[in-house]
Amino acid sequence: MSDSIANVTDALASGAARIIDLTHTLDPDFPVIILPPEFGQCARFRMEEVSAYDHRGPAWKWHNLTLNEHTGTHFDAPIHWISGKDVPNGAVDEIDPAAFIGPVVVIDCSAGAATDDDFELTPETIEAWETEHGMIPADTWVLMRTDWSKRSGTDYLNMAPDGPHSPGPTPAAVELLLKRNIRGFGTETVGTDAGQGMHYVPPYPAHYLLHGAGKFGLQCLRNLDQMPPTGALLIAPPLKIKGGTGSPLRVLAMVTR
Ligand code: MN
Repeated sequence: MSDSIANVTDALASGAARIIDLTHTLDPDFPVIILPPEFGQCARFRMEEVSAYDHRGPAWKWHNLTLNEHTGTHFDAPIHWISGKDVPNGAVDEIDPAAFIGPVVVIDCSAGAATDDDFELTPETIEAWETEHGMIPADTWVLMRTDWSKRSGTDYLNMAPDGPHSPGPTPAAVELLLKRNIRGFGTETVGTDAGQGMHYVPPYPAHYLLHGAGKFGLQCLRNLDQMPPTGALLIAPPLKIKGGTGSPLRVLAMVTR
């Protein structure tokens, strides 16, 4: 056991392994999900200066923060969705912390998403990936690369009169990921579901099916274009918010060079 941990620290120290930051900077300008107006809305990140080495605090600088649990690069816990509300230990403070470090694979959908804002991750896409890279192992994070994180401003949410348009998985794709017994599913978009995911049966299948099965979500990831398809380790511990449905977090991947 101690040898295997020494191997990891040696690999990082020698440069044989490196860390990729999959996190956007928390910034008041970073978009948050916008729901139809009849629903409550997600707060953007706000930072209020309390003091800055001045009369309010002569030797220190600090800020008060305001944000939603689902602002910026963030983690979704099972209790985020109605289907997962009774999942045991389904809040961020209750999840076994061992779940926050684990293997990750990346399915590259960037070519399809470049030409189709409503690109769908289907079972066929997943099976084609598995033909090349092997079956997705159990208890693994699966990340959907779309290069959507390279968009900014209004292009990120990509709102139209009929709602947002962004890529995501079909219900059948989510069912296949559950058959593989994955740990969780992550995306570069503002949600784990497609912008038009309300039109699937069930609506928002990634949220509904994954959280109902006790699985986790990650959203607003970036730098997936730097990730290998297999072989990386994901480090993604959310804040320990009592009864929290999710949390902004720093998402890191350890990869070998
Ligand atoms: Mn969320």
